[in-house]
Amino acid sequence: MKEKSIRVLLLVEDNPGDVGLLRQMFSEHGSPHTELTMVRCMRDAEKHLEQGTPDIIVLDLGLPDAQGLEALRRARAAAPRVPLVVLTALDDESLAAQALHEGAQDYLIKGQIEPRGLFRALRYAIERKIMEDSLFMEKERAQVILNSIGDAVICTDVSGNIAFLNLAAEKMAGRSRQQAAGRLMNKVFRILDATSREAVPDPIETAAGQNQAVLRSSNCILVRHAGFEIPIEHSVSFIRDRDGRPDGAVIVLRDVSAAQAMAVQMIHSAQHDFLTGLPNRMLLNDRVNQAIALSSRRRKKVAVLFLDLDGFKHINDSLGHPAGDKLLQSIASRLADCLRGSDTVTRQGGDEFVVLLSELEDSQDAALAARRMLGTVAEAHSINQHDLQITASVGVSVYPDDGADAETLIKNADTAMYQAKENGRQSYQFFKPAMNVRAVERQSIEEGLRRALERQEFVLHYQPKVDLRTGEITGAEALIRWTHPIRGPVSPAQFIPVAEDCGLILPIGNWVLREACKQARAWLDAGLPLTTMAVNISAMEFRDERFLEGVFAILDDTRWDPRYLELELTESVLMKRVESTESILKALKARGVRLAVDDFGTGYSSLSYLRKFPIDALKIDQSFVRQITTVPDETTIVTAVISMGRSLNLRVVAEGVETEEELAFLQAHQCDEAQGYYFSKPVIPRQFAKLLKSGISVLSFDHN
Ligand code: C2E
Ligand code: MG
Ligand code: MG
Repeated sequence: MKEKSIRVLLLVEDNPGDVGLLRQMFSEHGSPHTELTMVRCMRDAEKHLEQGTPDIIVLDLGLPDAQGLEALRRARAAAPRVPLVVLTALDDESLAAQALHEGAQDYLIKGQIEPRGLFRALRYAIERKIMEDSLFMEKERAQVILNSIGDAVICTDVSGNIAFLNLAAEKMAGRSRQQAAGRLMNKVFRILDATSREAVPDPIETAAGQNQAVLRSSNCILVRHAGFEIPIEHSVSFIRDRDGRPDGAVIVLRDVSAAQAMAVQMIHSAQHDFLTGLPNRMLLNDRVNQAIALSSRRRKKVAVLFLDLDGFKHINDSLGHPAGDKLLQSIASRLADCLRGSDTVTRQGGDEFVVLLSELEDSQDAALAARRMLGTVAEAHSINQHDLQITASVGVSVYPDDGADAETLIKNADTAMYQAKENGRQSYQFFKPAMNVRAVERQSIEEGLRRALERQEFVLHYQPKVDLRTGEITGAEALIRWTHPIRGPVSPAQFIPVAEDCGLILPIGNWVLREACKQARAWLDAGLPLTTMAVNISAMEFRDERFLEGVFAILDDTRWDPRYLELELTESVLMKRVESTESILKALKARGVRLAVDDFGTGYSSLSYLRKFPIDALKIDQSFVRQITTVPDETTIVTAVISMGRSLNLRVVAEGVETEEELAFLQAHQCDEAQGYYFSKPVIPRQFAKLLKSGISVLSFDHN
């Protein structure tokens, strides 16, 4: 500790002899920096102390206005933080001892004072005061720390009697520090081993023989009053004296109930879906594998049913996610209700549920369950005052026929589910190995598509559209062709959906549009009479946020007049998200781009939208054109579309015209234009140029 020099000393002494003596000692032996202040009575001392604090007070215990301990008490009250040395008479040593007890740091006996003793007493008094203060602070700090931690801390003496409890320990014990003090640790805290439920021996005893500094044990239970139990961990550390002999122990008890509950909760949430509370993918895998192990011993079957909702995204988009979530919850509970208790219903995420049926006698039992599931999902769900209707598709795979492990069974059930979707909604489908062949094929198409653009494997063919009154070519439809380096030609009907799924339709569509406009521009520049170039746009392209930007950039780059570009969109593209569709269509229209509804009649257009959207043409799907000759009565669809188109002031184009009969019918019903093999198949650019030059020569046109 750094020695403190005395700057200000207050001497409270009424005896002039003593004052003189002390003053002389100071002037002869003291530091020149020490300022000596002298007062003769307690009142003056108190007044003085009000003004400032000295480094030390030397106080005579026999003052005119205060004697003995009273003088000391008053001085302490006036300056509690200042070290104090008392002066007593020779015959008053017991008073001196009392003074020390009441806070004086030291005493000097009058008549025996000599300079060295005086200065040493003063210096020690100051140092002792500093030490006392810091000891006090240390104790205070320790107390605050101990009371602010959540663990129970208990100090015992060497024989295990409690000496201290912090707040948490008081709470755990249900007793105050005073009530617990002096009692044996195991009389206040009842600690059991969680497994054997036997009392854990007193930690001090167990630890006594061992040399470790800290002993820890987990898996214990603290039995509180009224038998209430909490799981704890505890540790014992020994306090040793300077010679290394045990002097006591510190025992820390930690309540681990929250941590244990959290661990249980974490395991649960890792294995369950938070929305529906159903087991999730992780747990499903385990359960399927368990079921397989059990069934193979008992020669039974296991079925995995993969259920996916039809059009769930639409509900989510239109009614909002909260409603979507409620629907999923409703479906989860219905699925659970319609199955046996031994079956497992899980949610894979999104709108996919997987059900595990174990110990089946016959795989047809899975068909029954699938039908029950489809039925219960299809019943109306009452959500936010709406009656929501939704259907599902289910794919089924069976152990051992369709796979020997969870992963394969789930994957195959998923594949079968896709097949079920393709077969039509609200149906189920058992897995067949051929389905995997299709999946593999799809995969290989996707891989091929990734390289097709850079390897320039795409070309465009053009098919003429013919005016049914004059027989003139009114335009061309660009149709993409792909020759796979190994598979050869792949039809657009096969690869366009794959390109849509993997997002490659965006660069491909962009290439088609640019190529078609470039070609049209080239024909125009060569003086060929081409009017309109039609290009097919798929849903994903249309919904892409950069779609409009792309179209306009291509028109600018190729200098193709927007009024002679026609975009063909299917009904399903138009009917989704009507608001944004309308604004995109209007933006295109504002630039003069023409718009046609492709495959008209196969989707579910509503007349009001057709009126609302700035559409120029309807293309009657070829399936209806085919009906003209095959199912005579059904021709009403074609005639209905033609007359509807006329009433809405739209051009009507018939697709897939193959025969003279079809042509005659369309002409008779005043269809505006037609397209089909009867006039020309889609052809390469050079051949199309020839067609433009020579015109289409078919008999049935009236050329006047
Ligand atoms: P779509 O737009 O309805 O095109 C008409 C389809 O009918 C074309 O098939 C065409 O070759 C075929 N076709 C034309 N006349 C006849 C006929 O008289 N009889 C028969 N049986 N078929 C005829 P393609 O080229 O195989 O294209 C199929 C579909 O693929 C197209 O249907 C279109 O939806 C899509 N597609 C083609 N090219 C593109 C493209 O560049 N981009 C996009 N997004 N889709 C395209
Ligand atoms: Mg088309
Ligand atoms: Mg079509």
